[in-house]
Amino acid sequence: MCNVEDKSNNLTFNGRRGFLKTAGLATIGAALSSPTLAAYSPKPENVISANAALDRLMEGNMRYVKGDSTLHNFNAEREALVGGQNPYACILSCSDSRITPEYAFDSARGDLFVVRVAGNFVSMNGLASLEYAVKYLGTRLLMVLGHQGCGAISGAISAIREGTVLPGRLPELIESIAPSVGLAINQPGDLLENAVRENVRLNVAALRAASPILSEMVATEELRVVGGVYNLESGQVDLLG
Ligand SMILES: [Zn+2]
Repeated sequence: MCNVEDKSNNLTFNGRRGFLKTAGLATIGAALSSPTLAAYSPKPENVISANAALDRLMEGNMRYVKGDSTLHNFNAEREALVGGQNPYACILSCSDSRITPEYAFDSARGDLFVVRVAGNFVSMNGLASLEYAVKYLGTRLLMVLGHQGCGAISGAISAIREGTVLPGRLPELIESIAPSVGLAINQPGDLLENAVRENVRLNVAALRAASPILSEMVATEELRVVGGVYNLESGQVDLLG
């Protein structure tokens, strides 16, 4: 059982059930909308537009590809972020251990708000996490990041083509990825590569349409949602149109 007292917003967390019981949803909402929480920007350089954030991500990726990544003073970075965070971009990435968005975009602590799930698709809790970053941390760019050779998508292809039945909760994961395989299955070229791209496109569209928070901010151009595919060999991220 986890027992954490957060003095900054007067919430007491005693595991999931305890949290709900103690605080109640109204209290949680009040805490999340606290002006202190929303306004705190420990990294002024991260208060940037979506377009500037995308430029910064891609410049970081270029440094990473060239092997010219920034050296970090982790002690100083930790201290600067004790009081809060204002990441400049959100990444919805696959859980695959070969990706690591913080490295791929040559970023520091406090720069990227990362949601990871095998197959990088939008789940309800993942969406809520992204909404939190956009609404309360001021992040203005979301990127769905797929990758070459994705095992989750490869598994979905096998399940659909060969009727493979996977154990545990894996069929639920496959179900979430299946629509992208369906879109790619009759396309010319490599099925896995095509399904990876379709999966990114589908989830970019899902985030752009997610109401009320994200869709409204996309409509007013305060927020951008983009898609990218990470190349395992070069480390390069190619943006999808
Ligand atoms: Zn993957």
